[in-house]
Amino acid sequence: MNNKNRILVIGGGIGGLAAAIGLRQKGFYVEVIERNRDWTVYHVGIIVQANFIRALETLGLAQDAIKAGFPYRGVHFRDRSGNLVADLPGEPTIPGYPSDLGLTRPALHQVLTNKVKDLGIPVRLGCSYDSVDDKGDQVAVRFSDGTAGKYQLVVAADGAYSKLRNVLFPGTPAPKYTGQGVWRYNVPRPPEMHWAEIYLGKDGGKAGYVPLTEETMYVLAVFEEPGNPKFPPETLATEFRKRLDGYGGELARCRELITDPSMVVYRPLEVCIMPDPWYKGRVVLIGDAAHSATPHLGQGAGMAVEDAVVLAEEWLAGHEDPAKALRRFMDRRFERALLVGQSSIKLGYLEMHPEEEGDPVAITDQIRKKLAEAI
Ligand SMILES: Cc1cc2nc3c(=O)[nH]c(=O)nc-3n(C[C@H](O)[C@H](O)[C@H](O)COP(=O)(O)OP(=O)(O)OC[C@H]3O[C@@H](n4cnc5c(N)ncnc54)[C@H](O)[C@@H]3O)c2cc1C
Repeated sequence: MNNKNRILVIGGGIGGLAAAIGLRQKGFYVEVIERNRDWTVYHVGIIVQANFIRALETLGLAQDAIKAGFPYRGVHFRDRSGNLVADLPGEPTIPGYPSDLGLTRPALHQVLTNKVKDLGIPVRLGCSYDSVDDKGDQVAVRFSDGTAGKYQLVVAADGAYSKLRNVLFPGTPAPKYTGQGVWRYNVPRPPEMHWAEIYLGKDGGKAGYVPLTEETMYVLAVFEEPGNPKFPPETLATEFRKRLDGYGGELARCRELITDPSMVVYRPLEVCIMPDPWYKGRVVLIGDAAHSATPHLGQGAGMAVEDAVVLAEEWLAGHEDPAKALRRFMDRRFERALLVGQSSIKLGYLEMHPEEEGDPVAITDQIRKKLAEAI
Protein backbone atom coordinates (compact mmCIF):
# COMPACT_ATOMS: atom_id res chain seq x y z
CA MET A 1 0.00 0.00 0.00
CA ASN A 2 1.28 3.42 -0.98
CA ASN A 3 0.98 5.17 2.38
CA LYS A 4 2.76 8.30 1.16
CA ASN A 5 0.13 8.91 -1.44
CA ARG A 6 -2.76 9.47 0.94
CA ILE A 7 -6.12 10.23 -0.56
CA LEU A 8 -9.20 11.64 1.14
CA VAL A 9 -12.67 10.98 -0.25
CA ILE A 10 -15.35 13.36 1.01
CA GLY A 11 -18.77 11.70 0.78
CA GLY A 12 -19.68 8.05 1.27
CA GLY A 13 -22.36 7.87 -1.45
CA ILE A 14 -22.22 5.90 -4.70
CA GLY A 15 -19.40 7.89 -6.32
CA GLY A 16 -17.32 8.33 -3.17
CA LEU A 17 -17.41 4.66 -2.21
CA ALA A 18 -16.63 3.57 -5.77
CA ALA A 19 -13.67 5.99 -5.85
CA ALA A 20 -12.38 4.77 -2.50
CA ILE A 21 -12.58 1.15 -3.70
CA GLY A 22 -10.95 1.89 -7.06
CA LEU A 23 -8.08 3.92 -5.59
CA ARG A 24 -7.48 1.42 -2.79
CA GLN A 25 -7.36 -1.42 -5.32
CA LYS A 26 -4.66 0.53 -7.18
CA GLY A 27 -2.58 0.49 -4.01
CA PHE A 28 -3.24 3.91 -2.51
CA TYR A 29 -4.04 4.63 1.11
CA VAL A 30 -7.60 6.02 1.15
CA GLU A 31 -9.80 7.48 3.87
CA VAL A 32 -13.50 8.36 3.59
CA ILE A 33 -15.53 10.88 5.57
CA GLU A 34 -19.32 10.81 5.49
CA ARG A 35 -21.37 13.42 7.27
CA ASN A 36 -24.40 11.15 7.74
CA ARG A 37 -23.86 9.43 11.09
CA ASP A 38 -26.27 6.58 10.30
CA TRP A 39 -25.08 6.26 6.69
CA THR A 40 -28.59 5.40 5.55
CA VAL A 41 -30.02 5.70 2.04
CA TYR A 42 -33.71 5.99 1.20
CA HIS A 43 -35.64 2.88 0.31
CA VAL A 44 -36.58 3.36 -3.35
CA GLY A 45 -34.85 1.88 -6.35
CA ILE A 46 -32.54 3.03 -9.06
CA ILE A 47 -32.03 1.67 -12.52
CA VAL A 48 -28.59 1.20 -14.00
CA GLN A 49 -27.37 0.04 -17.36
CA ALA A 50 -24.66 -1.90 -19.14
CA ASN A 51 -22.04 0.84 -18.74
CA PHE A 52 -22.60 0.88 -14.96
CA ILE A 53 -22.24 -2.93 -14.85
CA ARG A 54 -18.99 -2.69 -16.83
CA ALA A 55 -17.63 -0.04 -14.44
CA LEU A 56 -18.60 -2.16 -11.41
CA GLU A 57 -16.91 -5.18 -13.00
CA THR A 58 -13.66 -3.18 -13.03
CA LEU A 59 -14.08 -2.82 -9.25
CA GLY A 60 -14.87 -6.55 -8.92
CA LEU A 61 -18.43 -5.82 -7.86
CA ALA A 62 -20.64 -6.53 -10.88
CA GLN A 63 -21.64 -10.03 -9.77
CA ASP A 64 -22.53 -8.81 -6.27
CA ALA A 65 -24.70 -6.04 -7.70
CA ILE A 66 -26.39 -8.37 -10.15
CA LYS A 67 -27.19 -10.78 -7.30
CA ALA A 68 -28.50 -7.91 -5.17
CA GLY A 69 -30.76 -6.54 -7.90
CA PHE A 70 -33.01 -7.69 -10.68
CA PRO A 71 -31.61 -7.89 -14.22
CA TYR A 72 -34.27 -6.92 -16.73
CA ARG A 73 -34.38 -7.06 -20.51
CA GLY A 74 -34.66 -3.45 -21.63
CA VAL A 75 -37.41 -0.86 -21.98
CA HIS A 76 -40.89 -1.24 -23.43
CA PHE A 77 -42.54 2.01 -24.42
CA ARG A 78 -46.33 2.03 -24.27
CA ASP A 79 -48.99 4.55 -25.15
CA ARG A 80 -51.29 6.01 -22.56
CA SER A 81 -53.68 3.06 -22.80
CA GLY A 82 -50.92 0.51 -22.36
CA ASN A 83 -50.40 -0.57 -26.00
CA LEU A 84 -46.79 -1.37 -26.90
CA VAL A 85 -45.39 1.28 -29.26
CA ALA A 86 -41.64 0.57 -29.20
CA ASP A 87 -39.05 -1.46 -27.40
CA LEU A 88 -35.37 -0.98 -26.69
CA PRO A 89 -33.91 -4.37 -25.80
CA GLY A 90 -30.82 -3.92 -23.65
CA GLU A 91 -27.39 -4.76 -25.03
CA PRO A 92 -24.82 -6.07 -22.54
CA THR A 93 -21.35 -4.54 -22.57
CA ILE A 94 -19.92 -7.81 -21.19
CA PRO A 95 -21.01 -11.09 -22.82
CA GLY A 96 -23.20 -13.10 -20.47
CA TYR A 97 -23.89 -10.14 -18.17
CA PRO A 98 -27.23 -8.32 -18.07
CA SER A 99 -27.75 -5.03 -19.85
CA ASP A 100 -30.14 -3.43 -17.37
CA LEU A 101 -30.46 -3.78 -13.66
CA GLY A 102 -32.97 -2.54 -11.09
CA LEU A 103 -31.65 -2.24 -7.55
CA THR A 104 -32.91 -0.86 -4.30
CA ARG A 105 -30.65 1.92 -3.08
CA PRO A 106 -29.98 0.07 0.20
CA ALA A 107 -28.93 -3.04 -1.78
CA LEU A 108 -26.39 -1.07 -3.84
CA HIS A 109 -25.17 0.70 -0.70
CA GLN A 110 -24.64 -2.71 0.94
CA VAL A 111 -22.61 -3.99 -2.03
CA LEU A 112 -20.34 -0.93 -1.89
CA THR A 113 -19.99 -0.75 1.89
CA ASN A 114 -19.20 -4.50 2.13
CA LYS A 115 -16.31 -4.00 -0.28
CA VAL A 116 -15.08 -0.91 1.59
CA LYS A 117 -15.02 -2.98 4.79
CA ASP A 118 -13.31 -5.94 3.07
CA LEU A 119 -10.57 -3.62 1.82
CA GLY A 120 -10.13 -2.12 5.30
CA ILE A 121 -10.78 1.43 4.12
CA PRO A 122 -11.30 3.69 7.15
CA VAL A 123 -14.66 5.50 7.06
CA ARG A 124 -15.45 8.20 9.57
CA LEU A 125 -19.21 8.64 9.96
CA GLY A 126 -20.80 11.85 11.19
CA CYS A 127 -17.71 13.68 10.00
CA SER A 128 -17.33 16.62 7.63
CA TYR A 129 -14.48 19.07 7.01
CA ASP A 130 -13.94 22.57 8.37
CA SER A 131 -11.32 23.61 5.86
CA VAL A 132 -9.56 22.27 2.78
CA ASP A 133 -6.34 24.12 2.06
CA ASP A 134 -4.42 23.18 -1.08
CA LYS A 135 -0.76 23.98 -0.44
CA GLY A 136 0.48 22.87 -3.85
CA ASP A 137 2.40 19.73 -2.89
CA GLN A 138 -0.37 18.48 -0.58
CA VAL A 139 -3.83 19.39 0.75
CA ALA A 140 -4.25 20.17 4.44
CA VAL A 141 -7.69 19.26 5.75
CA ARG A 142 -9.20 20.12 9.12
CA PHE A 143 -12.10 17.89 10.09
CA SER A 144 -15.28 18.65 12.00
CA ASP A 145 -14.21 16.14 14.72
CA GLY A 146 -11.19 18.31 15.56
CA THR A 147 -8.58 16.18 13.79
CA ALA A 148 -6.49 17.14 10.76
CA GLY A 149 -4.70 15.39 7.89
CA LYS A 150 -2.54 15.96 4.83
CA TYR A 151 -3.35 14.38 1.48
CA GLN A 152 -1.95 14.10 -2.02
CA LEU A 153 -5.45 14.14 -3.48
CA VAL A 154 -8.89 15.11 -2.18
CA VAL A 155 -11.87 13.63 -4.02
CA ALA A 156 -15.04 15.64 -3.46
CA ALA A 157 -17.93 13.21 -3.92
CA ASP A 158 -20.26 15.23 -1.74
CA GLY A 159 -23.29 15.10 -4.00
CA ALA A 160 -25.50 17.46 -5.96
CA TYR A 161 -25.35 20.15 -3.27
CA SER A 162 -21.57 19.88 -2.91
CA LYS A 163 -20.16 22.56 -0.62
CA LEU A 164 -16.64 21.87 -1.80
CA ARG A 165 -17.74 22.83 -5.32
CA ASN A 166 -18.22 26.37 -4.08
CA VAL A 167 -14.95 26.35 -2.21
CA LEU A 168 -13.16 25.40 -5.46
CA PHE A 169 -15.27 27.47 -7.80
CA PRO A 170 -16.87 30.31 -5.84
CA GLY A 171 -20.09 31.69 -7.29
CA THR A 172 -21.22 28.43 -8.91
CA PRO A 173 -25.02 28.60 -9.01
CA ALA A 174 -27.02 26.03 -7.02
CA PRO A 175 -28.57 23.14 -8.99
CA LYS A 176 -31.38 24.45 -11.18
CA TYR A 177 -34.95 23.14 -11.05
CA THR A 178 -35.86 21.73 -14.47
CA GLY A 179 -39.64 22.12 -14.04
CA GLN A 180 -40.39 18.46 -13.30
CA GLY A 181 -40.54 16.24 -10.24
CA VAL A 182 -40.25 12.46 -9.90
CA TRP A 183 -42.60 10.24 -7.88
CA ARG A 184 -41.68 6.73 -6.74
CA TYR A 185 -43.36 3.90 -4.84
CA ASN A 186 -42.57 0.20 -4.46
CA VAL A 187 -45.23 -2.40 -5.33
CA PRO A 188 -45.21 -6.20 -5.77
CA ARG A 189 -43.69 -7.36 -9.08
CA PRO A 190 -45.95 -9.59 -11.19
CA PRO A 191 -43.88 -12.74 -11.98
CA GLU A 192 -44.07 -12.11 -15.76
CA MET A 193 -42.58 -8.56 -15.50
CA HIS A 194 -39.07 -8.70 -17.00
CA TRP A 195 -38.94 -5.28 -18.67
CA ALA A 196 -39.03 -1.68 -17.57
CA GLU A 197 -42.22 -0.21 -19.02
CA ILE A 198 -42.67 3.49 -19.74
CA TYR A 199 -46.04 4.93 -20.72
CA LEU A 200 -45.92 8.00 -22.95
CA GLY A 201 -48.70 10.16 -24.34
CA LYS A 202 -49.68 12.38 -21.43
CA ASP A 203 -48.57 16.02 -21.53
CA GLY A 204 -45.95 17.12 -19.02
CA GLY A 205 -44.33 13.79 -18.33
CA LYS A 206 -44.41 10.02 -18.35
CA ALA A 207 -44.93 7.13 -15.95
CA GLY A 208 -44.14 3.46 -15.65
CA TYR A 209 -42.58 0.74 -13.54
CA VAL A 210 -39.23 -1.04 -13.23
CA PRO A 211 -38.41 -4.44 -11.65
CA LEU A 212 -36.19 -4.18 -8.54
CA THR A 213 -36.17 -7.65 -7.00
CA GLU A 214 -38.01 -10.97 -7.52
CA GLU A 215 -40.74 -9.58 -5.28
CA THR A 216 -40.83 -5.85 -5.97
CA MET A 217 -40.86 -3.25 -8.68
CA TYR A 218 -41.15 0.49 -8.40
CA VAL A 219 -43.75 2.70 -9.95
CA LEU A 220 -42.47 6.04 -11.18
CA ALA A 221 -43.95 9.19 -12.63
CA VAL A 222 -42.03 12.20 -13.91
CA PHE A 223 -44.27 15.22 -14.38
CA GLU A 224 -44.17 18.95 -14.83
CA GLU A 225 -44.68 20.55 -11.40
CA PRO A 226 -45.15 24.27 -12.00
CA GLY A 227 -43.66 26.49 -9.31
CA ASN A 228 -41.65 23.64 -7.71
CA PRO A 229 -44.35 22.92 -5.10
CA LYS A 230 -43.73 21.47 -1.63
CA PHE A 231 -46.33 18.78 -0.92
CA PRO A 232 -47.56 18.14 2.64
CA PRO A 233 -46.37 14.58 3.44
CA GLU A 234 -49.87 13.25 4.11
CA THR A 235 -50.97 14.16 0.55
CA LEU A 236 -48.21 12.35 -1.31
CA ALA A 237 -50.11 9.14 -2.15
CA THR A 238 -53.15 11.08 -3.39
CA GLU A 239 -50.98 13.44 -5.44
CA PHE A 240 -49.05 10.53 -6.98
CA ARG A 241 -52.29 8.72 -7.91
CA LYS A 242 -53.61 11.93 -9.54
CA ARG A 243 -50.63 11.92 -11.88
CA LEU A 244 -51.42 8.37 -12.91
CA ASP A 245 -55.06 9.19 -13.79
CA GLY A 246 -55.97 8.16 -17.31
CA TYR A 247 -53.31 5.49 -17.82
CA GLY A 248 -54.41 1.97 -18.76
CA GLY A 249 -52.72 -1.42 -18.73
CA GLU A 250 -50.69 -2.66 -15.77
CA LEU A 251 -50.02 0.93 -14.72
CA ALA A 252 -53.72 1.41 -13.89
CA ARG A 253 -53.49 -1.59 -11.53
CA CYS A 254 -50.30 -0.23 -9.95
CA ARG A 255 -52.02 3.12 -9.34
CA GLU A 256 -54.48 1.49 -6.95
CA LEU A 257 -51.60 0.10 -4.84
CA ILE A 258 -50.25 3.56 -4.01
CA THR A 259 -51.90 4.10 -0.66
CA ASP A 260 -49.27 4.83 2.00
CA PRO A 261 -48.08 8.47 1.81
CA SER A 262 -45.08 7.72 4.04
CA MET A 263 -43.72 5.33 1.41
CA VAL A 264 -43.97 7.77 -1.50
CA VAL A 265 -40.67 9.40 -2.45
CA TYR A 266 -41.06 12.71 -4.29
CA ARG A 267 -38.08 14.75 -5.54
CA PRO A 268 -37.98 17.88 -7.66
CA LEU A 269 -35.53 17.44 -10.56
CA GLU A 270 -32.50 19.71 -10.28
CA VAL A 271 -29.37 19.79 -12.36
CA CYS A 272 -25.91 21.31 -12.15
CA ILE A 273 -23.35 20.54 -14.85
CA MET A 274 -19.96 22.04 -14.12
CA PRO A 275 -17.81 23.22 -17.02
CA ASP A 276 -14.39 21.65 -17.65
CA PRO A 277 -12.30 21.37 -15.48
CA TRP A 278 -13.81 19.79 -12.36
CA TYR A 279 -10.53 20.08 -10.49
CA LYS A 280 -8.30 22.74 -9.07
CA GLY A 281 -4.84 21.79 -7.89
CA ARG A 282 -5.15 18.53 -5.99
CA VAL A 283 -8.91 18.63 -5.34
CA VAL A 284 -11.30 17.02 -7.83
CA LEU A 285 -15.10 16.85 -7.98
CA ILE A 286 -16.74 13.62 -9.12
CA GLY A 287 -20.31 12.30 -9.43
CA ASP A 288 -23.23 14.61 -8.78
CA ALA A 289 -20.89 17.23 -7.30
CA ALA A 290 -19.53 17.72 -10.84
CA HIS A 291 -22.48 16.80 -13.06
CA SER A 292 -25.94 15.92 -11.85
CA ALA A 293 -28.57 14.79 -14.36
CA THR A 294 -32.29 14.13 -14.20
CA PRO A 295 -33.24 10.44 -13.89
CA HIS A 296 -34.60 10.31 -17.48
CA LEU A 297 -31.68 8.19 -18.65
CA GLY A 298 -31.02 6.37 -15.37
CA GLN A 299 -27.36 7.35 -15.60
CA GLY A 300 -26.47 9.35 -12.46
CA ALA A 301 -25.02 6.36 -10.64
CA GLY A 302 -23.40 5.07 -13.83
CA MET A 303 -21.62 8.37 -14.41
CA ALA A 304 -20.49 8.53 -10.76
CA VAL A 305 -19.01 5.01 -10.86
CA GLU A 306 -17.39 5.62 -14.25
CA ASP A 307 -15.80 8.80 -12.82
CA ALA A 308 -14.42 6.72 -9.95
CA VAL A 309 -12.96 4.03 -12.20
CA VAL A 310 -11.33 6.51 -14.58
CA LEU A 311 -9.95 8.61 -11.72
CA ALA A 312 -8.33 5.56 -10.15
CA GLU A 313 -6.78 4.56 -13.50
CA GLU A 314 -5.45 8.02 -14.27
CA TRP A 315 -4.17 8.69 -10.74
CA LEU A 316 -2.25 5.43 -10.83
CA ALA A 317 -0.85 6.27 -14.26
CA GLY A 318 0.28 9.78 -13.42
CA HIS A 319 0.04 10.81 -9.76
CA GLU A 320 3.56 12.26 -9.85
CA ASP A 321 2.08 15.03 -11.97
CA PRO A 322 -1.44 15.71 -10.62
CA ALA A 323 -2.26 18.35 -13.24
CA LYS A 324 -1.58 15.86 -16.05
CA ALA A 325 -3.40 12.99 -14.34
CA LEU A 326 -6.48 15.09 -13.64
CA ARG A 327 -6.38 16.57 -17.15
CA ARG A 328 -6.45 13.05 -18.59
CA PHE A 329 -9.33 12.23 -16.23
CA MET A 330 -11.27 15.22 -17.60
CA ASP A 331 -10.50 14.28 -21.20
CA ARG A 332 -12.12 10.89 -20.66
CA ARG A 333 -15.08 12.13 -18.59
CA PHE A 334 -16.29 15.57 -19.57
CA GLU A 335 -18.02 15.01 -22.93
CA ARG A 336 -19.69 11.84 -21.72
CA ALA A 337 -21.13 13.38 -18.56
CA LEU A 338 -22.18 16.48 -20.49
CA LEU A 339 -24.01 14.31 -23.04
CA VAL A 340 -25.93 12.55 -20.26
CA GLY A 341 -26.76 15.79 -18.43
CA GLN A 342 -27.87 17.71 -21.50
CA SER A 343 -29.81 14.80 -22.99
CA SER A 344 -31.64 14.16 -19.74
CA ILE A 345 -32.67 17.84 -19.62
CA LYS A 346 -33.78 17.64 -23.25
CA LEU A 347 -35.95 14.57 -22.61
CA GLY A 348 -37.70 16.40 -19.76
CA TYR A 349 -38.10 19.51 -21.91
CA LEU A 350 -39.75 17.50 -24.70
CA GLU A 351 -42.18 16.03 -22.18
CA MET A 352 -43.12 19.52 -21.02
CA HIS A 353 -43.27 20.85 -24.61
CA PRO A 354 -44.92 18.13 -26.70
CA GLU A 355 -45.34 20.67 -29.53
CA GLU A 356 -41.54 20.66 -30.03
CA GLU A 357 -39.94 18.18 -32.40
CA GLY A 358 -37.98 15.31 -30.91
CA ASP A 359 -38.40 11.58 -30.48
CA PRO A 360 -37.71 10.49 -26.87
CA VAL A 361 -37.38 6.83 -27.82
CA ALA A 362 -34.80 7.60 -30.53
CA ILE A 363 -32.85 9.92 -28.20
CA THR A 364 -32.80 7.29 -25.44
CA ASP A 365 -31.68 4.62 -27.91
CA GLN A 366 -28.91 6.84 -29.26
CA ILE A 367 -27.56 7.65 -25.77
CA ARG A 368 -27.70 4.04 -24.61
CA LYS A 369 -25.63 3.03 -27.65
CA LYS A 370 -23.15 5.84 -27.14
CA LEU A 371 -22.64 4.95 -23.48
CA ALA A 372 -22.04 1.30 -24.35
CA GLU A 373 -18.87 2.44 -26.16
CA ALA A 374 -15.64 2.12 -24.19
CA ILE A 375 -14.67 5.19 -22.13
C1 LIG B 1 -35.11 11.21 -7.47
C2 LIG B 1 -33.86 10.68 -8.05
C3 LIG B 1 -33.87 9.52 -8.79
C4 LIG B 1 -32.68 9.01 -9.32
N1 LIG B 1 -32.73 7.84 -10.03
C5 LIG B 1 -31.61 7.34 -10.56
C6 LIG B 1 -31.63 6.13 -11.28
O1 LIG B 1 -32.67 5.50 -11.46
N2 LIG B 1 -30.46 5.68 -11.79
C7 LIG B 1 -29.27 6.35 -11.59
O2 LIG B 1 -28.24 5.88 -12.07
N3 LIG B 1 -29.23 7.48 -10.88
C8 LIG B 1 -30.37 7.99 -10.37
N4 LIG B 1 -30.33 9.15 -9.66
C9 LIG B 1 -29.06 9.85 -9.50
C10 LIG B 1 -28.13 9.18 -8.49
O3 LIG B 1 -28.78 9.00 -7.25
C11 LIG B 1 -26.91 10.06 -8.29
O4 LIG B 1 -26.38 10.40 -9.55
C12 LIG B 1 -25.84 9.36 -7.46
O5 LIG B 1 -26.33 9.09 -6.18
C13 LIG B 1 -24.61 10.24 -7.40
O6 LIG B 1 -23.69 9.72 -6.48
P1 LIG B 1 -22.75 10.70 -5.66
O7 LIG B 1 -21.86 9.81 -4.86
O8 LIG B 1 -22.15 11.69 -6.57
O9 LIG B 1 -23.70 11.52 -4.70
P2 LIG B 1 -24.58 10.98 -3.48
O10 LIG B 1 -25.02 9.58 -3.74
O11 LIG B 1 -25.61 12.03 -3.26
O12 LIG B 1 -23.58 10.95 -2.25
C14 LIG B 1 -23.05 12.11 -1.67
C15 LIG B 1 -22.64 11.75 -0.25
O13 LIG B 1 -21.84 12.81 0.29
C16 LIG B 1 -22.21 13.01 1.64
N5 LIG B 1 -21.80 14.37 1.99
C17 LIG B 1 -22.30 15.53 1.51
N6 LIG B 1 -21.63 16.58 2.04
C18 LIG B 1 -20.67 16.06 2.87
C19 LIG B 1 -19.67 16.64 3.69
N7 LIG B 1 -19.52 17.96 3.77
N8 LIG B 1 -18.87 15.82 4.39
C20 LIG B 1 -19.02 14.47 4.33
N9 LIG B 1 -19.97 13.87 3.56
C21 LIG B 1 -20.78 14.65 2.83
C22 LIG B 1 -23.71 12.78 1.63
O14 LIG B 1 -24.22 12.52 2.93
C23 LIG B 1 -23.82 11.58 0.70
O15 LIG B 1 -23.69 10.36 1.39
C24 LIG B 1 -31.48 9.69 -9.13
C25 LIG B 1 -31.46 10.86 -8.36
C26 LIG B 1 -32.63 11.37 -7.83
C27 LIG B 1 -32.59 12.63 -7.02
